[in-house]
Amino acid sequence: MSVGTLGFYSDFDDFQTWKQALQAQLPALRVVHAGQAERPEEIDYAMVWKPPQGIFERMTKLRLIINLGAGVDSLVGRDDLPPNIPITRITDPQMARMMAGYVLFAVIRHARDIPHFEQAQRAGRWAYRHPRSPEDITVAVLGLGQLGAKAAHEIQRQGFRTLGWSRSLAQIDGVECSAGMETLDAVIGQADIVVLMLPLTPQTRQIFDRERLEKMRPGAAFVNVARGALVDQAALTELLQSGRIGAATLDVFEREPLPAEDALWQMPNVLITPHLASVAIPSSSAKQIAANILRVAAGELPDNIIEPSRGY
Ligand code: NDP
Repeated sequence: MSVGTLGFYSDFDDFQTWKQALQAQLPALRVVHAGQAERPEEIDYAMVWKPPQGIFERMTKLRLIINLGAGVDSLVGRDDLPPNIPITRITDPQMARMMAGYVLFAVIRHARDIPHFEQAQRAGRWAYRHPRSPEDITVAVLGLGQLGAKAAHEIQRQGFRTLGWSRSLAQIDGVECSAGMETLDAVIGQADIVVLMLPLTPQTRQIFDRERLEKMRPGAAFVNVARGALVDQAALTELLQSGRIGAATLDVFEREPLPAEDALWQMPNVLITPHLASVAIPSSSAKQIAANILRVAAGELPDNIIEPSRGY
């Protein structure tokens, strides 16, 4: 049985690898590169990451848009989206595990004062600092979605006091959860390490403005694996320079790539990685994408539809 044609677009992911992974699940699926498709009007499903403006224009048969990643902020705000086509995102336990691994690394690095030892090593100094017990360290995870909940779970498993914050109240074993803007500052004010895992939406853009950054405990560490535009980066830089915020692990930035002249690059209390805390993994994600394609081919709604009005 033919299930139709999928059009792929990403400048970051390999077309052939995804094509093979998808056809391993659905041998009858035609997979074409949407940027080079001769007949876009034959495309039933578009699987895209940051596609160029106008890409959907000639896809007159389109029935499903699959965002090739977890964050949909680069899609939902666009004015060239065809109306009434469901948009799904990648949901993959292995992607969540990869993210949780990064977050756990960042949290433990701060909790065990590794930046202090890295600097001491460069100066040839034996700079003993007595380890703190994880129970005495409070970590706040802001955003408890498919990735955030897994990260919070892993952090609490290490024995840290773990606070979780989201829009609606979550329940995660061992995590003290709260919800809503009115509780955010209290959560931040208790944390030694703040981990940002919120989607970028009109409500969360610049949620960490200067005033909110100043609500953090003096010397606390800041981890951002979500989106750069959630944070006033200039204010964060100044607060890190003054030591008011002790250290940061940053995977995402207001401008990516982070410009070579940006002060953050040279700061000893900042660890920078180039937006790779987690990525979509073809072999493990293809099954869920294939299941959604089959649902749509059968006239049903796909799973994991995002709500454009909510922004995630
Ligand atoms: P989800 O969409 O599954 O969950 C979002 C979470 O944020 C939910 O808990 C939601 O609350 C909460 N939230 C949303 N808006 C608000 C708000 N206004 N106030 C309070 N809480 C809010 O996201 P994921 O966990 O899958 O991913 C999070 C983000 O991580 C992605 O949006 C993406 O930007 C980023 N990301 C970064 C990667 C990287 O490599 N650096 C890789 C992949 C993703 P509720 O539960 O009530 O809905």
